[in-house]
Amino acid sequence: MTGRRFRFVKWTLRPDTEADAPRTVHRFRCVALDDHDDECGACSAACAEPGEAQGWASGHWRANPDHASFAGTVERPWVLWMDGPA
Ligand SMILES: [Zn+2]
Repeated sequence: MTGRRFRFVKWTLRPDTEADAPRTVHRFRCVALDDHDDECGACSAACAEPGEAQGWASGHWRANPDHASFAGTVERPWVLWMDGPA
């Protein structure tokens, strides 16, 4: 049996603000229901700017005037960070 030493460290989950972090993305999804209560589900691309995703929603509504309900999501990068001894 070999002697092994373990060092306990504290990890903290925090927003990733490093230059190489994945970018924050904004999306809109159409949640309008059809006659069978099924969600449309059409979705914008992952947009770097919120206005870009909102523009998609406006365009989807113009093409489908009865689709006026959306879910907006913002996806931000987070990272587990070694934060010293436990
Ligand atoms: Zn729709």
